Amino acid sequence: MLFDHTPTVLTIAGSDNYGGAGIQVDAKVIHTLGGYAFTAITALTAQNSTGVKDSFVTPEQIFKAQLTSILDDIEVDAVKIGMLANAEIITIIAEVIDKYKLKNIVLDTVLVSSSGKALLEPSAIRTMVKELFPRVDIITPNIPEVNALLGTEYTGKNDEIEVMSKGLFELGAKAVLLKGGHSSDNQNATDHLVEKSFKIVPFTTTRLHTTHTHGTGCVLSSAIATHLAKGESLVKSIALSKTFLYKSLHTASTIKFKYIAKNDSRKEPLL
Ligand code: PLP
Repeated sequence: MLFDHTPTVLTIAGSDNYGGAGIQVDAKVIHTLGGYAFTAITALTAQNSTGVKDSFVTPEQIFKAQLTSILDDIEVDAVKIGMLANAEIITIIAEVIDKYKLKNIVLDTVLVSSSGKALLEPSAIRTMVKELFPRVDIITPNIPEVNALLGTEYTGKNDEIEVMSKGLFELGAKAVLLKGGHSSDNQNATDHLVEKSFKIVPFTTTRLHTTHTHGTGCVLSSAIATHLAKGESLVKSIALSKTFLYKSLHTASTIKFKYIAKNDSRKEPLL
């Protein structure tokens, strides 16, 4: 596809000083895929390969100013939303989506880091559902997030795909990408796109057994947003992003750590 401008993506997410997730990896992905990244940081986190140590939510005024300074000036082609931190941040994003008529919005429903730290206050989950699900084009939950949202205990079997997506549509989602990384399938990693018509499209790659799992959800969602910004369809954007994620898992950065971690407790970055 030819463009008269560089495809632009606004990533609204948390800062990960460890570099493998959040704003930092989103910007790497967007740039690698040929887009230009604008950012609005919802929270600062302090983390490393062993998990999130601390976080500080961006004060409302400066959070809002990050968004309006970009959106008053620039046409944004797509938006990726990640760590939301709290209800105030969510409300500002919902207002901005309406005011600037933002399009091609991908919401990665990040709730808790793999190290167990809440990235969204549990009491704000309802606000995310109410304010953002109907306003975004697609949500990209993994199975634990689906269960947290629906109060269920699905394990990600193929015959649960329809009922999981039905539950998420009832919460207001327009389309869902159900990520199968946590399923019990040891051979393959299959994600399923389900649209309101209940058309189900599976995306499968071989499952890789790796410690480079930090930020996988961020990489996938920002890649999808970048391909949408380039004018690709939702199905093609997901297919291209899944391939990009798979290739990135093969060529991940190798960081020199100061000690050997026990078992597989260390999460290494992808990019
Ligand atoms: N930190 C930030 C700022 C994030 O946005 C995310 C995920 O979206 C994470 C950490 C999660 O990292 P992990 O993949 O290790 O669970």
